[in-house]
Amino acid sequence: ERARLHRLRNTPAVTLDGERVELLANIELPADAAAALEAGAVGVGLFRSEFLFMNRQGNLPGEEEQFLSYKAAVEALKGLPVTIRTVDIGADKPLDRMSNHELRHEHTLNPALGLRAIRWSLAEPDMFAQQLRALLRASAFGKVRVLIPMVAHLSEVAQIRAGLEAAKQQLQQRGQAFSDVELGAMIEIPAAALMIRSLLPHFDFFSIGTNDLIQYTLAIDRADEAVAHLYDPWHPAVLRLIEHTITEATAAGKSVSVCGEMAGDPAFTEVLLAMGLRSFSMHPAQISAIKQRVLRADTKHFAALLSNAIAADDPQVAWRSAAGQR
Ligand code: PEP
Ligand code: MG
Repeated sequence: ERARLHRLRNTPAVTLDGERVELLANIELPADAAAALEAGAVGVGLFRSEFLFMNRQGNLPGEEEQFLSYKAAVEALKGLPVTIRTVDIGADKPLDRMSNHELRHEHTLNPALGLRAIRWSLAEPDMFAQQLRALLRASAFGKVRVLIPMVAHLSEVAQIRAGLEAAKQQLQQRGQAFSDVELGAMIEIPAAALMIRSLLPHFDFFSIGTNDLIQYTLAIDRADEAVAHLYDPWHPAVLRLIEHTITEATAAGKSVSVCGEMAGDPAFTEVLLAMGLRSFSMHPAQISAIKQRVLRADTKHFAALLSNAIAADDPQVAWRSAAGQR
């Protein structure tokens, strides 16, 4: 069994009909990078940088500490791409009170709809600038991709680009090295999925956050047990938004990945492949199961099945019965 797993780790993820699929890891701290490589990931698709900011009892990491953390992850990945998401603070990932007391606080009725993620970063421009400089400096040591959470407005895009340019200028003035970083957007708000065409020219890559996309599409709090039975990734509205995003991004030649829980759940591997997805990012422990699914998949017949399933009242039943006939 160990030998088989070892072989699997070094086997490229290619479908029966020869489609190459990229399997990436989600990590929370630089120390997780080792597990990502161990699992056979070909890069990091989501480094949730907010974990560096949580449980800190008052002191948030400044530019230097962040730089060292990002550099550690980038060096551990030995040239493989590392996608680092700017802080997704707020809602289910709050700063503790002490750290937050001088910053905007979150006494609000609907934190998931409030000042979180990129909204928080743009409201705290000094923090955002520190993070961007730290990310740029880490790019001198490997391949860094910067991913922005919760993008929904074109006005945010302009502010993000301006912030990145300002950070580059500051580093140039200081004489500190950095290389090119790709800029990506999380697609996790239904508005962003619907307007993906307007976002395409502004970003180098996209990553679909299905956890939040489901929450916001269905108006189901992802952490509320009382409505958990209605949190349904198979809901046709959710599938349509994911499919639309993948189709438009792919047609424009932009890379698109899924980094929410759906990417690491073997029940969705085929349907995501059917939508044209060729990049999945997940917890390292899920990579081998997803790879086995990919190795057994034959995407040639998927297109017709997908349109039937999405048009059905219950896509899950439709997809399963079609899968049974293959
Ligand atoms: C998501 O929303 O699917 C996602 C990957 O981000 P997070 O779970 O950290 O909100
Ligand atoms: Mg999210």
